[in-house]
Amino acid sequence: MSRLDTTPRLSPLPLTTLVSTDLIGVTRGRSFPSDELAHYASAGCGWVPANSALTPQDIIAASNPWGAHGDLRLIPDLSSRVTVDNGPDSEAPALDFIHCDVRETDGRPWGACPRTLLQDEVERYRTALGLQVYAAFEHEFNLNATPALPDRLAFSLQAQRQQAGFAGWLLGALRAGGVEPEMFLPEYGKHQYEITCRPSLGVAAADRAVNVREISREIARQMGLDLSFAPKTAENAVCNGVHLHLSLQDLSGDPVLHDAASANGLSSLGRHWAAGVLHYLPALCAFTAPTPVSYERLQPHHWSASHACLGQRNREAALRICPTVSLGGKPVANQYNLEFRAVDATASPHLAMAAVLIAGRLGIEQCLPLNAVTDEIPDELDEAQRRERGIIALPTTLAQALDCLRHSGALFEALPRPLVETYFALKAQELALTEALSPAERCEHYARIY
Ligand code: GLU
Ligand code: MG
Repeated sequence: MSRLDTTPRLSPLPLTTLVSTDLIGVTRGRSFPSDELAHYASAGCGWVPANSALTPQDIIAASNPWGAHGDLRLIPDLSSRVTVDNGPDSEAPALDFIHCDVRETDGRPWGACPRTLLQDEVERYRTALGLQVYAAFEHEFNLNATPALPDRLAFSLQAQRQQAGFAGWLLGALRAGGVEPEMFLPEYGKHQYEITCRPSLGVAAADRAVNVREISREIARQMGLDLSFAPKTAENAVCNGVHLHLSLQDLSGDPVLHDAASANGLSSLGRHWAAGVLHYLPALCAFTAPTPVSYERLQPHHWSASHACLGQRNREAALRICPTVSLGGKPVANQYNLEFRAVDATASPHLAMAAVLIAGRLGIEQCLPLNAVTDEIPDELDEAQRRERGIIALPTTLAQALDCLRHSGALFEALPRPLVETYFALKAQELALTEALSPAERCEHYARIY
């Protein structure tokens, strides 16, 4: 080409994607040229009801309520936009997406949208209880290179150095995307790491969990690394958990879970809230530990959760009172939070958080008494001791968890019918599609998907 050649050159258009993170925690959407955002801002883009019945196996559940019918809109929540410029791959287009609520074409809420469910529940906390919800999700994951890197020791600087390049890009990208990252740390497992970020209010906390997952995947993709958040990526692997930290504030932002005068620091409101979560925990697992492989993780001695109990210094407790620091005169009350440990990344963050909030609210409304508080390892107690303390076992399969949900009374009743029907249809199909897999195959299968 001569220097005088003035033929216009084609250049790629920057794209923005409208996304919905669905019932199985998969983020899906449609993209358009970013300079046309104004055109999509109020009426969004089209969406298909049956998309919500997709299984992780990429097959739409046969008996879903929608079939070939209907049309929906993805309506962007412009305040949730995430823009991250290209990272380690300088040719990669910027990542630019906006979380959406799924609505009917006339703008009415759609009954099977998990983000709307969470939005509504957060609003109920505000109007019915005068509370706001502050939350953060911690994520563990496996990060592997090809050819495989040597194994490094747990929590070691060597393990951190092995992925220091990834860590730097990831934290930079998260910060650019508004995620407020806190820590990147090597975990106990081989090639296992963890990322934590600061809490945020209401729906933004679940959006942020999606942002962590998608930005991590993007950086890994650009670096040619293999990243998986799946609860167990190989039969002998240490499990990847997601820990959901929750605290409640009154409408002026003052923390309400803490009472310095009580034995474990939990306020009377906090006790009812925790009692609700523990009471409904077996049913909550249907949303928080929602795939067959989740039950490879929800086992005794995995530092995850096998029983419904509340503990203060107990990583085998499904609900844990997190440590607070009084060093340097730091105020304790606004650090005080409860960690729900029975979640993994095959769950929709919006659905999982909404379900936990509903259970906690029912605990407050029904003034449930708090039992099952222990720093003992539930699995090391005998059946009679567990009964005496009110500690109940969690489901050991997804089918059991779905059964618990079906029979959970007030929790089940609090969920919108279209969402529940779609969820049961897709989970039934998922169970059928995966029943022939051996435990090792199940781990590999879900490691590839999540
Ligand atoms: N890997 C554990 C899990 O599956 C959590 C370990 C920890 O407490 O950080 O939840
Ligand atoms: Mg951890």
